[in-house]
Amino acid sequence: MNTVIFVDKIIDPEKDSIINDHFVVIEKDKIVKISPNETYNDDQYSSYQKIKATNSTLLPGFIEMHSHIHVSSEKDAYYDSINDTDETLIIRATKAAREALLSGVTTMRDLGSKNNVIFPIKKAIDSEIIIGPNLIPSGSPITTTGGHCNMFGIESDTNDEVVESIRFLSKSGAQWIKIIATGGNFTPNTNIHEPQYSQEIIEIAVEEAHSLGLKVATHCHATKGIINCTNAKVDNLIHCSWIASENNDEFYDYQPEIADQIANEGIYVDPTLALSYLSQLRGMPLKRDPSKRYEILRNMWDKGIKFVSGMDSGMVNAHFNDFAYIPEVMVNKMGISCLDAIKTSTFTSAECLGLQNLIGSISVGKQADLVIVQGDPSINIEDMHNVHTIFKSGKIIKLNNEILV
Ligand SMILES: [Zn+2]
Repeated sequence: MNTVIFVDKIIDPEKDSIINDHFVVIEKDKIVKISPNETYNDDQYSSYQKIKATNSTLLPGFIEMHSHIHVSSEKDAYYDSINDTDETLIIRATKAAREALLSGVTTMRDLGSKNNVIFPIKKAIDSEIIIGPNLIPSGSPITTTGGHCNMFGIESDTNDEVVESIRFLSKSGAQWIKIIATGGNFTPNTNIHEPQYSQEIIEIAVEEAHSLGLKVATHCHATKGIINCTNAKVDNLIHCSWIASENNDEFYDYQPEIADQIANEGIYVDPTLALSYLSQLRGMPLKRDPSKRYEILRNMWDKGIKFVSGMDSGMVNAHFNDFAYIPEVMVNKMGISCLDAIKTSTFTSAECLGLQNLIGSISVGKQADLVIVQGDPSINIEDMHNVHTIFKSGKIIKLNNEILV
């Protein structure tokens, strides 16, 4: 079905532009025209479906950069992930994929789910057996024996084992490689203050992954792990929490000169910053005041580090339809502009994925992955929650709040 959209405002994050009173023409899966309303001639589009949205803004579809599609996001997410059978995990993932798409997420990079779950789910979405965002899977994360996420990861301790795991993941269909470079909160008996892998092993992993055309994202909370991964020139640092070693009195050990290195190398950072906000919102007591973390992130941002929009969905309290909280927290807690938060959620994340010529902006020739929100998120970022219409590759998924799939 070909479509013409009439909307008050269009935000194109690639050009940092907001345009008023234009119409957008979609043919099949592509945007083919964006033109001022006064040039519209209905004879030309008599067979096209018309969508008129008042008090609304058209944006590129959201890009969720960090999901764990089979993890439940409930209080018992850890126990669910170790006790559930693969069949149950696939049912959870099917529901998660649907929820994400219906919240406006048209592309989702999964950064760690069991191979037995994520690859069949991707295939089912691509063949339109189920609905969901375009999935970019990393498959099972690579971790150490007993390391963070070992319950759905591939345990690999030596250089050779890590290389073998990368080759196996590539063969299985992974489009990114996720490496767990430090301990994490989700997994008992791991240490968030210390690295799991040396710089040398991460370097070998990056070389191997790149030789197979895959990019590398590394989970790192500990500053020591961030330094290892920055020196190893990974493509994407995840969390980047700057947590000090155990024998340091301070919880954080932010190192501005390493942040400069991250900026200069062009390494993208996925700060997963909405996670603690959501926990607080949903009544979970916070272990510490998050303001220091927001302050560090703002300093990194001011140095020119490119942020991407990862939720860590699937983890406790991070539901698959929560995406809009990411730009909201960026604006309200980090203090960046609404347009910058929208750009992070769309174009910059597309760029990190190497898909900026296809998605993440509104221009002629791009894939018609679009959302229409009520209101104007360039003024009020909370309007990102009000997604009433969604297109995925030109197909209408939701129209004026009515779900069509
Ligand atoms: Zn994660």
